[in-house]
Amino acid sequence: MQAWVIGNWKQNPATSQDVNILLDDLLANVAKKDQTTSEVSNRCQLMVAPSFIHLAAVSACLKDSSILCAAQDISAHSPSTGAYTGDCSAQQVSDTGAKWTILGHSERRQYHQESQDCLLQKMTHAINQGIGVVFCIGETQTQYDVKETLQVVDEQLSVIKALLAQQPDSANLLAERLIVAYEPVWAIGTGKVPTVEEVSKTHQHIKQTVAGFADSLGSMTVLYGGSVNADNADSFAADAMIDGALVGGASLKADSFLAIANAFDRASL
Ligand code: PEP
Repeated sequence: MQAWVIGNWKQNPATSQDVNILLDDLLANVAKKDQTTSEVSNRCQLMVAPSFIHLAAVSACLKDSSILCAAQDISAHSPSTGAYTGDCSAQQVSDTGAKWTILGHSERRQYHQESQDCLLQKMTHAINQGIGVVFCIGETQTQYDVKETLQVVDEQLSVIKALLAQQPDSANLLAERLIVAYEPVWAIGTGKVPTVEEVSKTHQHIKQTVAGFADSLGSMTVLYGGSVNADNADSFAADAMIDGALVGGASLKADSFLAIANAFDRASL
């Protein structure tokens, strides 16, 4: 199975100049490694998600490269245009050349009170506009402490079930355009990580759950996210249930981002 390593740049870098430096670094290192070693190859698909203000420029810059580009969110209100100040639609994202969007990141759920209904709207608009979705789910520290992880992910995954109930014909489309990222909220940006065994069990549960929604979702890509770095990536990559990583902090430096990609690349050998 192809691994995915996705960089969520969040509200970074600060300036277009810094974005260009990061992109130049990424592209130079990907090209260098492709030429001199077999370390980074097609076994690991790279993708980066810049902020909306940088999306069109990054997308244009990556157009002829092997690195894909994603938005970090899309509007729930309209798939195309409308009076929704501050929003960006799936159609507008698509127009930049970006082919994917992250949805349901815990920071969006926390700071923008994104509900299940809101995420269903967003996912519907994305899929109908041909935008792939990296759907983030995961429990808080409190929920982890009282062992509610599987209950929480089941509740969050019900958005996919609801989409299929509304549009049964989208099952095959979802199989190609939906990735689940399991991100325990308490592990994001904290340096704390669950054990690989815990992640593996949760991923197995996620894979079984979505396969129960539709046969075509039987081989769903499930990524782990939360304080993945160059030092711990090998241990996550070694587990067959972990198909890649969604990376925040460590995606802001080409070296650490590509070291994580290399770990997943080696593990798929
Ligand atoms: C994230 O925000 O999706 C994330 C995984 O962040 P970090 O890698 O910094 O924990």
